[in-house]
Amino acid sequence: MGRAFVYVILGGGVAAGYAALEFSNRGVSHGELCIISEESVAPYERPALSKGYLLPEGIELVLGTRVISADVRRKTLLTAAGETISYKILIVATGARALKLEEFGVNGSDAENVCYLRDLTDANRLVDVMHSCSGGNAVVIGGGYIGMECAASLVINKINVTMVFPEAQCMPRLFTPKIASFYEDYYKSKGVEFVKGTALSSFDMDADGKVVAVNLRDGKRLLVDMVVVGIGIRPNTSLFEGQLTLEKGGIKVNEKMQSSNSSVYAVGDVAAFPVKLFGETRRLEHVDSARKCARHAVAAIMEPEKSGEFDYVPFFYSRIFALSWQFYGDNVGEVVHFGDFSGNTFGAYWVNKGHLVGSFLEGGTKEEYAAIAMVTGLKPAIEDLAELESRGLSYAMAV
Ligand code: FAD
Ligand code: NDP
Repeated sequence: MGRAFVYVILGGGVAAGYAALEFSNRGVSHGELCIISEESVAPYERPALSKGYLLPEGIELVLGTRVISADVRRKTLLTAAGETISYKILIVATGARALKLEEFGVNGSDAENVCYLRDLTDANRLVDVMHSCSGGNAVVIGGGYIGMECAASLVINKINVTMVFPEAQCMPRLFTPKIASFYEDYYKSKGVEFVKGTALSSFDMDADGKVVAVNLRDGKRLLVDMVVVGIGIRPNTSLFEGQLTLEKGGIKVNEKMQSSNSSVYAVGDVAAFPVKLFGETRRLEHVDSARKCARHAVAAIMEPEKSGEFDYVPFFYSRIFALSWQFYGDNVGEVVHFGDFSGNTFGAYWVNKGHLVGSFLEGGTKEEYAAIAMVTGLKPAIEDLAELESRGLSYAMAV
């Protein structure tokens, strides 16, 4: 049993949806393009899970179908149902999977009141669990994006939240201690408690297999009605290990998003692509890069002679409670904070080797966010950090 397509997109998430839109804009014939996704729904905007479907018409959708092996030499994919699907060009958009507590030596991920959040099924489950313990206690494991956004949603839904993470501050991969301290104080003002510098050691379960308490390595025991876990992700590369070159945990691609096999492209969380601004290969785990690299890959496939270099400025954002921040570029080098950290608008620039390489802004206007995006993309030389500090946001607005 088998089917053949010119283009196959493997994965049905954000990058898959945007690649399909780009194919559709450029014109593909009926039956030329197929999307294979393990999920039972068409591609959708994943960020909406923690804060619309994306499918144009005329595309063969193979949903609820897991691909279990790939042969890039033969240009075929084998599904769990035993069907072989062949392609001329493959776009790998398999995203990533949430890391499980078991990978850190703790059992209990399957308990009915322990929640992860990666896809629509997880989101529906999280909402059900949350509704079943209104007014109760939740422990959120992890101080990254999922931890911060879910903690805010739980509080809004009248659940008492304690956040537990091993680092000294929230969002350690991006925030400076000063920025983190602002958000932690804000969360505390909303009733969130923080237990930092320690990790989960075990769960206590009741007779029904529900978690009733979490035990921490520092000896603390917290009574819970539900647990949310956000401890990072791993890109879904396993189908291609040994067949494609990997880097930074993802599938290594060139500026056309083309892998070490010229018929296979990779986009989204699973792709490690050259970021010209940094002069190195990066794997980004954010929706803006998933959307843009997917569109770029399709442009490179359909009009290779016209598609230019992929000149991408990394962009991350979050919205929590009444707050909203954006970050552009890279958070390396010396940090210059600016603005009013006791008010609502503040930010930071990162200056590396004499150039501004990253900008963060909380509470900005559309124009202010556009200004920090632009200034970061220009990577201007900075001679005087004290002057940059005193000019603050007006520096970006003037460029
Ligand atoms: P995904 O969207 O994860 O899609 C991967 C797809 O591949 C899935 O459909 C999966 O089922 C399928 N798949 C994988 N393996 C197989 C297989 N073997 N066979 C068949 N199908 C397979 N980023 C931001 O910048 N801002 C935000 O506010 C934001 N909010 C987020 C909120 C949540 C809850 C989550 C989980 C992520 C959020 N992100 C956000 C990150 C962003 O959603 C991801 O960077 C983006 O989804 C990556 O797109 P992707 O297509 O690479 O992967
Ligand atoms: P993150 O990588 O953002 O954060 C995970 C956090 O958990 C890190 O601080 C990590 O620390 C910590 N951690 C690791 N192991 C443990 C452990 N055993 N116990 C407690 N904490 C631990 O991942 P998330 O899970 O929060 O998010 C998953 C994905 O979803 C990411 O790709 C993220 O970009 C994306 N996402 C993005 C959003 C946005 O852009 N607004 C919103 C929601 C999700 P350490 O760094 O030391 O390993």
